[in-house]
Amino acid sequence: MREVTWGGTRVFLVQGDITQQTTEAIVNAATSGLLGGGGVDGAIHRAAGPRLHQECLAIRARQGGCPTGHAVITTGGELPARYVIHAVGPVWRGGDNDEDKLLYQAYSNSLALAVEKGIKSVAFPSLSTGAYGFPIRRAASVALRALREFLTLNPGMLAEVRMVLFSKRDLEVYEKALAAELGVEP
Ligand code: ADP
Repeated sequence: MREVTWGGTRVFLVQGDITQQTTEAIVNAATSGLLGGGGVDGAIHRAAGPRLHQECLAIRARQGGCPTGHAVITTGGELPARYVIHAVGPVWRGGDNDEDKLLYQAYSNSLALAVEKGIKSVAFPSLSTGAYGFPIRRAASVALRALREFLTLNPGMLAEVRMVLFSKRDLEVYEKALAAELGVEP
C-alpha cells in the first residue's frame, strides 16, 4: 500500500532522493544547531548551494538554533523545491526518553509550518532513522500516525504529502506501517 487520502490530502510513499523532489517544500533531517551534518542534511545543503547555510546561520543567530521536535523554514536555494523545512528529530536513546513524542512533534510541527506559509505540497525523508538511530519500524508508525492525525484535524489545507524513502527496504517498512495504520493487510 503506497497511497492514501487523509482529510482530503493525498499521501504517497515513494522511493527516491529527497533533494530531487518537486513538491513546494522538502523537509530536512536537521540538527538543532542548524549547522549541517551528513545524510539528508549534507545532501540538501550540497544541492541547495551556500545560500541555505547563510539562511540557517541567520536563524541560529536570531533564535539560537531549533529545539528537538520543532522546525524552521528557509528558501530552497537552488533546489527544485521552493522551501526547505528544517525539522529536528530526536536522537534514539533507548526509547524511554520521549523519542516517540519528539518524532511525532517533528512531523506535525513541520506540517503546521507548511500550512502557516500557505505551502500545499511537502516531501519528508524518514526523520531520525539514519545517524540518529531511531528503529525504522517504530519510526514509520509514529510518522504515519502524525501525518494522519494532523491531516485529519486540518482537512483541505494541503494537497499532497510525500514520504520519500531512500531504499527499497525502507519503502517496504513504510508500506507495512501504512497498512497497519489503516488496519488492513499489506
Ligand atoms: P537523522 O540524523 O535524522 O537520522 P539521516 O539523514 O542520517 O537523518 O537519515 C535519515 C534517513 O534518510 C535515513 O533512513 C537515510 O537512509 C535517508 N536518506 C539519506 N540520504 C537521503 C536522501 N538523499 N534522500 C532521502 N532519504 C535519504
